[in-house]
Amino acid sequence: MSTRIERLAARLDDPLLVTGLVNVRYLTGLESSNAVVLVEPAGEATLYTDFRYAEAASVVEDARFEQTPRAVLPALAERFSGRRIAVEAAHLSLADAETLRRGGVELVSTSGLVETLRAVKEPGELDALRRAAAISDRVYAELAAQPFVGRTEAELAWWLEQAWHEEGADGPAFDAIVAFGENGARPHAKLRDEPIPADTLVVVDAGCAVDGYRSDCTRTFFTGEPEGRLRELYDLCLRAQLDGLAAVAPGAAGRDVDAASRVAIGEAGMSELYGHGLGHGVGLDVHEGPTLRPESDAVLEPGNVVTVEPGLYLAGDVGVRIEDLVVVTTDGCERLTTVTKDPTRVA
Ligand code: ZN
Ligand code: ZN
Repeated sequence: MSTRIERLAARLDDPLLVTGLVNVRYLTGLESSNAVVLVEPAGEATLYTDFRYAEAASVVEDARFEQTPRAVLPALAERFSGRRIAVEAAHLSLADAETLRRGGVELVSTSGLVETLRAVKEPGELDALRRAAAISDRVYAELAAQPFVGRTEAELAWWLEQAWHEEGADGPAFDAIVAFGENGARPHAKLRDEPIPADTLVVVDAGCAVDGYRSDCTRTFFTGEPEGRLRELYDLCLRAQLDGLAAVAPGAAGRDVDAASRVAIGEAGMSELYGHGLGHGVGLDVHEGPTLRPESDAVLEPGNVVTVEPGLYLAGDVGVRIEDLVVVTTDGCERLTTVTKDPTRVA
Protein backbone atom coordinates (compact mmCIF):
# COMPACT_ATOMS: atom_id res chain seq x y z
CA MET A 1 0.00 0.00 0.00
CA SER A 2 1.34 3.43 -0.92
CA THR A 3 2.04 5.98 1.78
CA ARG A 4 -0.29 8.87 2.49
CA ILE A 5 2.26 11.26 0.99
CA GLU A 6 2.49 9.17 -2.19
CA ARG A 7 -1.29 9.13 -2.53
CA LEU A 8 -1.42 12.89 -2.02
CA ALA A 9 1.42 13.48 -4.51
CA ALA A 10 -0.49 11.54 -7.16
CA ARG A 11 -3.25 14.17 -6.95
CA LEU A 12 -0.96 17.20 -7.33
CA ASP A 13 -0.12 19.43 -10.29
CA ASP A 14 2.06 21.82 -8.27
CA PRO A 15 4.05 21.29 -5.06
CA LEU A 16 1.60 21.58 -2.16
CA LEU A 17 2.54 23.43 1.02
CA VAL A 18 0.52 21.71 3.75
CA THR A 19 -0.02 24.17 6.60
CA GLY A 20 -3.04 22.61 8.36
CA LEU A 21 -1.52 21.13 11.52
CA VAL A 22 -3.87 18.14 11.58
CA ASN A 23 -3.03 17.52 7.91
CA VAL A 24 0.69 17.68 8.76
CA ARG A 25 0.09 15.14 11.51
CA TYR A 26 -1.90 12.90 9.15
CA LEU A 27 0.87 12.92 6.52
CA THR A 28 3.93 12.67 8.78
CA GLY A 29 2.76 11.54 12.21
CA LEU A 30 4.30 14.68 13.72
CA GLU A 31 2.18 16.44 16.35
CA SER A 32 3.36 20.02 16.35
CA SER A 33 1.99 23.52 16.87
CA ASN A 34 4.42 24.89 14.27
CA ALA A 35 5.21 22.68 11.28
CA VAL A 36 4.52 22.58 7.55
CA VAL A 37 5.25 19.98 4.91
CA LEU A 38 5.94 20.54 1.22
CA VAL A 39 4.85 17.64 -0.99
CA GLU A 40 6.16 17.56 -4.58
CA PRO A 41 4.06 15.97 -7.36
CA ALA A 42 6.90 13.43 -7.84
CA GLY A 43 6.38 12.26 -4.26
CA GLU A 44 9.28 13.89 -2.44
CA ALA A 45 8.29 15.59 0.84
CA THR A 46 10.09 17.98 3.18
CA LEU A 47 8.98 18.67 6.73
CA TYR A 48 9.86 22.10 8.12
CA THR A 49 9.66 22.89 11.82
CA ASP A 50 11.63 24.65 14.54
CA PHE A 51 14.13 23.47 17.16
CA ARG A 52 11.44 22.42 19.67
CA TYR A 53 10.20 19.64 17.34
CA ALA A 54 13.52 18.78 15.70
CA GLU A 55 14.00 15.46 17.50
CA ALA A 56 10.51 14.20 16.67
CA ALA A 57 10.71 15.53 13.09
CA SER A 58 14.08 13.89 12.42
CA VAL A 59 12.63 10.38 12.85
CA VAL A 60 9.68 10.92 10.47
CA GLU A 61 10.07 8.26 7.77
CA ASP A 62 8.12 9.65 4.85
CA ALA A 63 9.52 13.19 4.74
CA ARG A 64 12.97 14.75 4.86
CA PHE A 65 13.38 17.15 7.82
CA GLU A 66 14.75 20.68 7.54
CA GLN A 67 14.94 22.84 10.65
CA THR A 68 13.80 26.46 10.33
CA PRO A 69 13.59 29.40 12.72
CA ARG A 70 10.41 29.67 14.81
CA ALA A 71 8.93 31.91 12.08
CA VAL A 72 8.65 29.10 9.51
CA LEU A 73 6.88 30.86 6.64
CA PRO A 74 9.20 33.89 6.33
CA ALA A 75 12.07 31.38 6.09
CA LEU A 76 10.22 29.42 3.41
CA ALA A 77 9.36 32.60 1.46
CA GLU A 78 13.08 32.98 0.83
CA ARG A 79 13.65 29.33 -0.09
CA PHE A 80 10.65 29.14 -2.42
CA SER A 81 11.22 32.52 -4.12
CA GLY A 82 10.38 32.36 -7.82
CA ARG A 83 8.47 29.06 -7.47
CA ARG A 84 4.81 28.29 -8.00
CA ILE A 85 3.40 26.64 -4.86
CA ALA A 86 -0.09 25.33 -4.13
CA VAL A 87 -1.42 26.22 -0.67
CA GLU A 88 -4.32 25.08 1.50
CA ALA A 89 -6.75 28.00 1.38
CA ALA A 90 -8.50 26.86 4.56
CA HIS A 91 -5.25 26.66 6.53
CA LEU A 92 -3.15 29.66 5.44
CA SER A 93 -3.75 33.05 7.01
CA LEU A 94 -3.89 36.12 4.82
CA ALA A 95 -0.81 37.42 6.66
CA ASP A 96 1.14 34.25 5.85
CA ALA A 97 -0.02 34.35 2.22
CA GLU A 98 1.25 37.93 1.96
CA THR A 99 4.58 36.91 3.50
CA LEU A 100 5.01 34.22 0.83
CA ARG A 101 3.94 36.54 -2.00
CA ARG A 102 6.28 39.32 -0.86
CA GLY A 103 9.08 36.75 -0.96
CA GLY A 104 8.34 36.16 -4.64
CA VAL A 105 6.33 32.93 -4.34
CA GLU A 106 3.44 32.42 -6.75
CA LEU A 107 0.52 30.93 -4.80
CA VAL A 108 -2.15 28.59 -6.18
CA SER A 109 -5.21 28.16 -3.98
CA THR A 110 -6.45 24.61 -3.29
CA SER A 111 -8.97 23.11 -0.93
CA GLY A 112 -9.60 19.70 0.60
CA LEU A 113 -6.73 17.75 -0.99
CA VAL A 114 -5.55 16.15 2.27
CA GLU A 115 -9.03 16.17 3.78
CA THR A 116 -10.30 14.00 0.91
CA LEU A 117 -7.70 11.36 1.81
CA ARG A 118 -8.50 11.66 5.51
CA ALA A 119 -12.21 11.02 4.87
CA VAL A 120 -11.52 7.37 3.96
CA LYS A 121 -10.06 5.63 6.99
CA GLU A 122 -7.31 3.04 6.84
CA PRO A 123 -7.55 -0.12 8.97
CA GLY A 124 -5.27 1.34 11.65
CA GLU A 125 -7.38 4.47 11.88
CA LEU A 126 -10.57 2.42 12.12
CA ASP A 127 -8.97 0.44 14.93
CA ALA A 128 -8.31 3.64 16.92
CA LEU A 129 -11.87 4.87 16.23
CA ARG A 130 -13.26 1.51 17.37
CA ARG A 131 -11.26 1.68 20.59
CA ALA A 132 -12.49 5.23 21.24
CA ALA A 133 -16.09 4.17 20.59
CA ALA A 134 -15.75 1.13 22.86
CA ILE A 135 -14.56 3.38 25.69
CA SER A 136 -17.49 5.70 24.93
CA ASP A 137 -19.90 2.75 25.25
CA ARG A 138 -18.51 1.83 28.67
CA VAL A 139 -18.56 5.41 29.92
CA TYR A 140 -22.15 6.01 28.77
CA ALA A 141 -23.26 2.77 30.46
CA GLU A 142 -21.58 3.92 33.69
CA LEU A 143 -23.06 7.39 33.28
CA ALA A 144 -26.59 5.95 33.15
CA ALA A 145 -25.98 4.51 36.64
CA GLN A 146 -24.91 7.89 38.02
CA PRO A 147 -27.28 10.12 40.00
CA PHE A 148 -28.34 13.12 37.87
CA VAL A 149 -31.02 14.88 39.93
CA GLY A 150 -29.46 17.50 42.23
CA ARG A 151 -26.09 17.48 40.45
CA THR A 152 -25.15 20.23 38.02
CA GLU A 153 -24.35 19.97 34.32
CA ALA A 154 -20.79 21.03 35.12
CA GLU A 155 -20.41 18.29 37.77
CA LEU A 156 -21.49 15.59 35.32
CA ALA A 157 -19.15 17.00 32.67
CA TRP A 158 -16.26 16.68 35.14
CA TRP A 159 -17.37 13.14 35.97
CA LEU A 160 -17.15 12.35 32.23
CA GLU A 161 -13.68 13.86 31.97
CA GLN A 162 -12.43 11.60 34.76
CA ALA A 163 -14.22 8.57 33.32
CA TRP A 164 -12.42 8.96 29.96
CA HIS A 165 -9.09 8.73 31.72
CA GLU A 166 -10.15 5.83 33.96
CA GLU A 167 -11.32 3.84 30.92
CA GLY A 168 -8.02 4.35 29.10
CA ALA A 169 -8.68 7.23 26.69
CA ASP A 170 -6.03 9.90 26.15
CA GLY A 171 -8.60 12.53 27.13
CA PRO A 172 -11.84 14.13 25.97
CA ALA A 173 -12.42 14.63 22.24
CA PHE A 174 -14.11 17.99 22.85
CA ASP A 175 -15.81 19.90 25.67
CA ALA A 176 -18.73 17.72 26.77
CA ILE A 177 -22.28 19.00 26.50
CA VAL A 178 -24.55 18.17 29.45
CA ALA A 179 -27.78 20.13 29.08
CA PHE A 180 -31.14 19.73 30.79
CA GLY A 181 -34.49 21.38 30.04
CA GLU A 182 -34.26 24.57 27.98
CA ASN A 183 -30.46 24.25 27.77
CA GLY A 184 -30.97 20.99 25.88
CA ALA A 185 -32.77 23.05 23.23
CA ARG A 186 -29.42 24.69 22.41
CA PRO A 187 -27.50 22.33 20.10
CA HIS A 188 -24.17 23.69 21.38
CA ALA A 189 -25.20 24.36 24.98
CA LYS A 190 -22.77 25.75 27.57
CA LEU A 191 -22.48 24.04 30.95
CA ARG A 192 -24.44 25.59 33.83
CA ASP A 193 -24.09 25.33 37.59
CA GLU A 194 -27.79 24.77 38.29
CA PRO A 195 -28.91 21.47 39.80
CA ILE A 196 -30.66 19.07 37.42
CA PRO A 197 -34.35 18.71 38.34
CA ALA A 198 -36.66 15.68 38.15
CA ASP A 199 -38.98 15.08 35.18
CA THR A 200 -36.86 16.60 32.44
CA LEU A 201 -34.60 15.51 29.59
CA VAL A 202 -30.81 15.73 29.82
CA VAL A 203 -28.80 15.76 26.58
CA VAL A 204 -25.26 14.40 26.98
CA ASP A 205 -22.97 14.82 23.94
CA ALA A 206 -19.40 13.73 24.62
CA GLY A 207 -16.45 11.81 23.23
CA CYS A 208 -12.90 10.76 23.90
CA ALA A 209 -9.63 10.65 21.98
CA VAL A 210 -7.51 7.53 21.40
CA ASP A 211 -4.22 7.98 19.50
CA GLY A 212 -5.64 11.27 18.19
CA TYR A 213 -8.87 9.72 16.86
CA ARG A 214 -12.19 10.90 18.32
CA SER A 215 -15.43 9.35 19.38
CA ASP A 216 -18.67 11.35 19.28
CA CYS A 217 -21.89 10.11 20.88
CA THR A 218 -25.08 11.67 22.22
CA ARG A 219 -27.72 10.13 24.46
CA THR A 220 -30.71 11.92 25.99
CA PHE A 221 -31.70 10.73 29.48
CA PHE A 222 -35.00 11.03 31.39
CA THR A 223 -34.95 12.20 35.01
CA GLY A 224 -38.57 11.05 35.29
CA GLU A 225 -40.70 8.29 33.81
CA PRO A 226 -40.09 8.00 30.05
CA GLU A 227 -43.68 8.76 29.12
CA GLY A 228 -46.04 11.48 27.89
CA ARG A 229 -44.90 14.42 25.78
CA LEU A 230 -41.16 13.96 26.45
CA ARG A 231 -41.39 10.30 25.45
CA GLU A 232 -43.14 11.24 22.19
CA LEU A 233 -40.37 13.70 21.37
CA TYR A 234 -37.75 11.08 22.18
CA ASP A 235 -39.44 8.41 20.05
CA LEU A 236 -39.69 10.80 17.09
CA CYS A 237 -36.00 11.69 17.35
CA LEU A 238 -35.10 8.00 17.57
CA ARG A 239 -37.25 7.23 14.51
CA ALA A 240 -35.37 9.96 12.60
CA GLN A 241 -32.04 8.59 13.80
CA LEU A 242 -32.89 5.03 12.73
CA ASP A 243 -34.09 6.30 9.34
CA GLY A 244 -30.79 8.20 8.95
CA LEU A 245 -28.77 5.10 9.89
CA ALA A 246 -30.72 2.99 7.39
CA ALA A 247 -29.85 5.44 4.60
CA VAL A 248 -26.08 5.37 5.22
CA ALA A 249 -24.51 3.25 2.47
CA PRO A 250 -21.73 3.47 -0.11
CA GLY A 251 -22.85 5.56 -3.08
CA ALA A 252 -25.46 7.44 -1.04
CA ALA A 253 -25.34 11.23 -1.34
CA GLY A 254 -24.80 13.10 1.94
CA ARG A 255 -27.85 15.24 1.20
CA ASP A 256 -30.06 12.16 0.63
CA VAL A 257 -28.99 10.55 3.90
CA ASP A 258 -29.79 13.85 5.62
CA ALA A 259 -33.19 13.97 3.87
CA ALA A 260 -34.05 10.44 5.03
CA SER A 261 -33.74 11.60 8.64
CA ARG A 262 -36.25 14.43 8.04
CA VAL A 263 -39.22 12.41 6.78
CA ALA A 264 -40.77 11.35 10.10
CA ILE A 265 -40.11 14.76 11.69
CA GLY A 266 -41.71 16.45 8.68
CA GLU A 267 -44.77 14.21 8.93
CA ALA A 268 -45.09 15.23 12.58
CA GLY A 269 -45.02 18.91 11.51
CA MET A 270 -41.81 19.57 13.45
CA SER A 271 -39.30 20.25 10.65
CA GLU A 272 -38.45 23.68 12.00
CA LEU A 273 -37.33 22.14 15.31
CA TYR A 274 -34.53 20.20 13.54
CA GLY A 275 -32.35 23.03 12.32
CA HIS A 276 -28.95 21.40 11.81
CA GLY A 277 -27.47 18.77 9.52
CA LEU A 278 -27.71 15.05 10.24
CA GLY A 279 -24.02 14.45 10.75
CA HIS A 280 -20.36 14.96 10.03
CA GLY A 281 -17.22 12.98 9.44
CA VAL A 282 -14.98 12.16 12.43
CA GLY A 283 -11.31 11.23 12.62
CA LEU A 284 -8.32 13.22 13.87
CA ASP A 285 -10.80 16.12 13.99
CA VAL A 286 -14.20 15.79 15.56
CA HIS A 287 -15.68 17.66 12.59
CA GLU A 288 -14.31 16.67 9.18
CA GLY A 289 -15.55 15.24 5.90
CA PRO A 290 -17.83 13.92 4.62
CA THR A 291 -20.85 15.93 5.77
CA LEU A 292 -24.47 14.80 5.90
CA ARG A 293 -26.37 18.05 5.39
CA PRO A 294 -29.06 19.38 3.03
CA GLU A 295 -26.34 21.19 1.02
CA SER A 296 -23.77 18.36 1.13
CA ASP A 297 -22.05 17.37 -2.13
CA ALA A 298 -20.46 14.31 -0.52
CA VAL A 299 -21.04 10.78 -1.82
CA LEU A 300 -20.35 8.15 0.82
CA GLU A 301 -17.78 5.40 0.30
CA PRO A 302 -16.59 2.46 2.40
CA GLY A 303 -14.24 3.64 5.13
CA ASN A 304 -16.00 6.96 5.75
CA VAL A 305 -16.75 7.46 9.45
CA VAL A 306 -19.70 9.74 10.13
CA THR A 307 -22.12 10.69 12.89
CA VAL A 308 -25.88 10.29 12.61
CA GLU A 309 -27.40 12.80 15.01
CA PRO A 310 -30.83 14.32 14.47
CA GLY A 311 -32.23 16.53 17.21
CA LEU A 312 -35.43 18.30 18.17
CA TYR A 313 -35.11 21.66 19.91
CA LEU A 314 -38.05 23.40 21.57
CA ALA A 315 -36.58 26.81 22.44
CA GLY A 316 -37.08 27.78 26.09
CA ASP A 317 -38.44 24.32 26.88
CA VAL A 318 -36.51 21.13 26.17
CA GLY A 319 -34.34 19.36 23.60
CA VAL A 320 -33.48 15.83 22.52
CA ARG A 321 -30.64 14.53 20.35
CA ILE A 322 -29.46 10.98 19.67
CA GLU A 323 -26.08 10.43 18.00
CA ASP A 324 -24.12 7.39 16.87
CA LEU A 325 -20.75 7.11 15.21
CA VAL A 326 -20.77 4.72 12.24
CA VAL A 327 -18.39 3.42 9.60
CA VAL A 328 -19.61 3.04 6.02
CA THR A 329 -19.18 -0.59 4.92
CA THR A 330 -19.50 -2.23 1.49
CA ASP A 331 -23.25 -2.66 1.92
CA GLY A 332 -24.44 -0.17 4.55
CA CYS A 333 -22.95 0.93 7.82
CA GLU A 334 -21.74 -0.49 11.09
CA ARG A 335 -22.39 1.34 14.35
CA LEU A 336 -19.26 1.98 16.37
CA THR A 337 -21.18 3.41 19.34
CA THR A 338 -23.54 0.67 20.47
CA VAL A 339 -24.71 1.75 23.94
CA THR A 340 -28.49 1.42 24.31
CA LYS A 341 -30.91 3.92 22.81
CA ASP A 342 -33.88 2.56 24.75
CA PRO A 343 -35.44 5.44 26.70
CA THR A 344 -33.38 5.47 29.89
CA ARG A 345 -34.46 6.86 33.25
CA VAL A 346 -31.65 8.11 35.48
CA ALA A 347 -31.86 8.75 39.21
ZN1 ZN B 1 -21.64 14.93 19.36
ZN1 ZN C 1 -21.35 15.15 16.33
